[in-house]
Amino acid sequence: MFKKILIANRGEVALRIIRACHQLNIATVAVYAQVEQTSLFVQQADEAYCIGPNTAQSSYLNREAILMAALLSGADAVHPGYGFLAEDALFAKMCAECGLTFIGPQPATIALLADKAAAKTYAHKQGVPVIPGGSALKDEAALRQTAAYLGYPVMLKASFGGGGKGMRVLSSEHELRHQYHLIQEEARQAFLNDAVYLEKYLTSARHIEVQVLQDQAGHLQLLGDRECSLQRNHQKVVEESPAAILTTVERAKLYQLARQLMSGLDYVGLGTLEFLFAEHQFYFLEMNTRLQVEHAVTEMTTGMDLVVTQIEVAAGQLIKSGTKTFKGHAIEVRLNAQAEGGLLATGKLETFRLFTGARVDTGYQEGDQILPYYDALVAKILVKQPTRKKAIEKLQRCLQHVQIKGIGTNLATLTQIMALPNYQANLVDIHFLAHLAGDAQ
Ligand code: ADP
Repeated sequence: MFKKILIANRGEVALRIIRACHQLNIATVAVYAQVEQTSLFVQQADEAYCIGPNTAQSSYLNREAILMAALLSGADAVHPGYGFLAEDALFAKMCAECGLTFIGPQPATIALLADKAAAKTYAHKQGVPVIPGGSALKDEAALRQTAAYLGYPVMLKASFGGGGKGMRVLSSEHELRHQYHLIQEEARQAFLNDAVYLEKYLTSARHIEVQVLQDQAGHLQLLGDRECSLQRNHQKVVEESPAAILTTVERAKLYQLARQLMSGLDYVGLGTLEFLFAEHQFYFLEMNTRLQVEHAVTEMTTGMDLVVTQIEVAAGQLIKSGTKTFKGHAIEVRLNAQAEGGLLATGKLETFRLFTGARVDTGYQEGDQILPYYDALVAKILVKQPTRKKAIEKLQRCLQHVQIKGIGTNLATLTQIMALPNYQANLVDIHFLAHLAGDAQ
């Protein structure tokens, strides 16, 4: 087992990893941007190193500075959390070159799956349905041809996009001509690669995903499924486990597809296979080769500690192949710092008190600042009950007790969602929240 793990992340996920390390009796090293010196995760780590100024680019994305801290501290492994460098094949490779275990799959596997167009080609080869579309294209004429073949609306996506960014719905050739270069430029700046690809835009679908874990000997565990259809700007807001809409036959089909996808991969660690589900068909969307924000709903229904297990598997521990049984129904809502129009709200958390009957994963405490440099997540609020109905009722009580002052949040929207008859009846799709907010698609 590792002796000391450096956590290449911040906020709630850094604290989540520290908790798992405590359980395994592993020392922790935090790295932080100057402005986060007094943050909870820095206080709770055994050691902490400042790695740069405030922007993500100069701190949590600064590979060299993070590796320097890892080597100075004598850490033997690096946990990347989610976001930042979690799916950065180069960083994983640099860790290995420095003699550090990167807690995630091999660099080549990360590289294959980080390229969403290449991942779709791989899925197709494995006999798994993908959303109709084309491979990455660099010229506008070819894109126009593919779009005409697919029929508008289509979605233009950055091959290396993530976090809900780098995708645009196009409803006509006119829009394609106008948007193509803009999206390419955005992709070049945000993801350092301007490759884009087209997909048929699904006007009604649900986002359903499977949590997987594989060890170094190729033993594969399927750890249940999740539904994450409630999204704003393609970012998840409410996540549930299991995906209650699925029949036994559909779930068996989903798991069979998951096995087909995993069978051709030399994969070690935790991962998530994401699908869109439309008209009783699953379409592979992408694979995330890391811990997900929403992993905790799976922990609540399977009774596992996914981060502890992830670390154990990275250290070489073997698992038994199989499908984990799950019990009850868990829901997570993301309490986000949010201003009008869904933009990030910043400022001081003057009051920040949450209901004690729920699981709350947060990186903040009262008096902390929500900074403009990072993501909007303030807290994940989670409940588990024997049924979905009871879980919704409990979450409603939890949300009533949230006291948060000083910054704008999406608390009112979360409360509104839980009370909506269509949400309660599970009649949702990936466009549900956009309609609710009156967003243009
Ligand atoms: P990211 O890697 O940024 O999370 P994904 O490719 O996983 O991007 O897609 C995120 C979300 O965007 C999906 O869950 C879905 O709601 C929406 N989306 C993606 N592709 C399509 C599509 N072809 N049609 C409709 N919605 C889509």
